[in-house]
Amino acid sequence: MKRVSVFGATGSIGQNTLDLIARDRDAYDVVALTGGGNIDQLSKDAKALQAEVAVTAYPEKLDELRNALAGSGVEAAAGPEAIAEAADRPADWIMSAIVGAAGLVPGLRALRHGTTLALANKESLVTAGPHLMAEAKRHGARILPVDSEHSAVFQGLVGENIEDVERIVITASGGALRDWPLEQLGAATLADACAHPNWDMGQRITIDSASMFNKALELIETREFFDVAPEQIEAVVHPQSLIHALVGFRDGALMAHIGPPDMRHAIGYALHWPDRKHLPVARLDLAQIATLEFRPACEKRWPALRLAREVMHLRGLAGACFNAAKESALDAFIAGQIGFLTMTEVVERTLEQTQAREGLDSATVSLDNILAVDHLSRIRAVEIAAQLAGAHTD
Ligand code: NAD
Ligand code: MG
Repeated sequence: MKRVSVFGATGSIGQNTLDLIARDRDAYDVVALTGGGNIDQLSKDAKALQAEVAVTAYPEKLDELRNALAGSGVEAAAGPEAIAEAADRPADWIMSAIVGAAGLVPGLRALRHGTTLALANKESLVTAGPHLMAEAKRHGARILPVDSEHSAVFQGLVGENIEDVERIVITASGGALRDWPLEQLGAATLADACAHPNWDMGQRITIDSASMFNKALELIETREFFDVAPEQIEAVVHPQSLIHALVGFRDGALMAHIGPPDMRHAIGYALHWPDRKHLPVARLDLAQIATLEFRPACEKRWPALRLAREVMHLRGLAGACFNAAKESALDAFIAGQIGFLTMTEVVERTLEQTQAREGLDSATVSLDNILAVDHLSRIRAVEIAAQLAGAHTD
């Protein structure tokens, strides 16, 4: 029996992970499931899968969780520290699918025990790439990428030498607003940005797809996980979302990973790695697809991609600042405080000011410094968002 825990179990990736585990119930011992405010879902899954412990991120929800689990034998716990402690429980495999920088600490705690970390939480690599990779190495723990593009690249590299790689091409659907005229983008509403054409994902990553902040995070994630130079990493718009990534080698060969837009493929690959097992994903009918389209990923339309290049060059604590500013800007957009295009402005200004004052590129990448820059950048981004919101309504 494989001992598994799922962090962010109530979210989109978490639910897809539980779907695969439930289909092969006898193969797994479920250790910990964590969630946020959706106690119904968390308790229902924890009981059905007979988890050892269920943890909510919110201390004020502990009583509700306890009541929901009464008599089931599943322990209840709450709060960020309880989530981190759940990562200390012995397990063979952990799914890191909390959204945002909150996913970093539990992942790091699991790595310290040598646990295999299936990493959907891209923010971990963006905020703390060098630290996370070094910790994995130090403790002999393996990280398996779950972001679909990175899983595709990882699969394309099986049996290859990274030195032979010339380029990595990450595809982007272009998100909900990809066909909108440039001059209308500023007026996009929350509902507009949430209407993703291909993928069914959590709200935050869906909005990040429309702004291309998701792709920006993924470029940085590629740089950190595969340790390739920024110049070797490209993004291309591919509206069908069937090719997830391509790896180009020094002999000119370009290997593409193609499959339906269903996260259970990348999750299942990480769950069964290094084996391949049957997965309940649709099989493509190539004749029916007929055409695969590609368009340049224009930095004028999606300035987040330009910012990602800056972050990849700065490195150090630039990723922690970039991600924190992005999360704050996204909060402000969801709250209706700032417009769609102002998100990028908030991130750019936060990055500029923090680089000028704190020297992000030359700082030591320790967990304390990462958390400090994350905190500072959020405060700065909130201030900048308020200023820009005021400026735009004047
Ligand atoms: P989601 O919003 O659907 O779920 C997020 C999960 O995290 C929920 O269980 C929620 O309760 C929990 N959570 C939220 N804030 C928390 C906090 N502060 N502390 C503890 N738990 C918290 O998100 P998702 O779409 O499943 O994405 C999860 C991660 O996977 C993100 O990093 C995302 O970028 C990445 N990812 C998602 C997809 C996808 O298809 N959904 C694809 C690739 C990568
Ligand atoms: Mg992705």
